[in-house]
Amino acid sequence: MGAPLTFQRFFLSFQAQKEGFMFGCRPFIGVYGCHLKGKFPRVLLSAIFIDANNSVFPVAICICEGESKDSWSWFIDNLYRHIGMEDNRRMTFMSDRQKGVLLAIEKHWPQFNRFCEISKLKTANEDAYNYIIKVELHHWTLHAFDSHVKSDYVTNNITESFNVWVDKFRGLLALLMMEGIRRKMIKRIGKRLQDAMSWSSVIPPLVQKKLSDRQDEARFVTVLCASDKEFKVKEDVKLYIVNLETQSCDCGLWELSGLPCKHAMAVITTTRKNPSDFVHPYLTKDVYLRTYNHVIHPIPDQEQWPHIQHNTVLPPVKKMKPGRPKKNRKRARE
Ligand SMILES: [Zn+2]
Repeated sequence: MGAPLTFQRFFLSFQAQKEGFMFGCRPFIGVYGCHLKGKFPRVLLSAIFIDANNSVFPVAICICEGESKDSWSWFIDNLYRHIGMEDNRRMTFMSDRQKGVLLAIEKHWPQFNRFCEISKLKTANEDAYNYIIKVELHHWTLHAFDSHVKSDYVTNNITESFNVWVDKFRGLLALLMMEGIRRKMIKRIGKRLQDAMSWSSVIPPLVQKKLSDRQDEARFVTVLCASDKEFKVKEDVKLYIVNLETQSCDCGLWELSGLPCKHAMAVITTTRKNPSDFVHPYLTKDVYLRTYNHVIHPIPDQEQWPHIQHNTVLPPVKKMKPGRPKKNRKRARE
């Protein structure tokens, strides 16, 4: 008899999530960790993607003992073997987590493209960090992206949305939590697919909203002169060149976000073209449907599961926290 088995880590991702990412999402992965409640020290690591309507789409999660080089390495290795081995697009990773994440990506993801880490900036210059978080995060994040990602979605939005999403599962035992997340994922995929079927536009609603905002901003841009494809435009005293064929503008926003910037929007409106024709395919209903038309198949009732001989897995070993026990500390305050 060897030592008794104890629970260490659990990785969960369904084929439908993997295919949803591969066929319908930008090559962008946000990796995050959040603490779980309960008797044992536990952390939930997650890999999150952004769908064509700029909403979060969790693709893999892992319950583990804590955030460390080892646990991140294990999670990223599993994620790579599940997705990265088949999806060979250059990935951009984003995280607000510690160094262990970057090391894990470098070790396990050969074709990764870029890693953006907001917290690094905080250590380097706290004032700059505060300024950027409050005022300029949007722009800063934009510049940290490579243009092939077609996203200007910011990391704190992703983390917040995901935290809200998993919040009610945080205190549950590992299996119940995974089951809760599985059910929620099934519902989410089904609901989003159904919603998308009823969209009348080829552009998803949140993207459409952004497009309309840019159209409003374009009122202050003047189109000066043009060839068939290239246009010179003026905003205040600044001049920009917009190229409809290469879908680019000097301001850089079009290439980064996949949506025409206000300068391009001025040209599109003046030339009476349809703005939807200039939106990157990553931000269209077609691609959105490709994210959500994969099914997580239901699991039969537990009664019907085949019986498998296995050793009992015990809960993880509780670690004593360093320092004096809590009880003494309380007494000292009294
Ligand atoms: Zn522009």
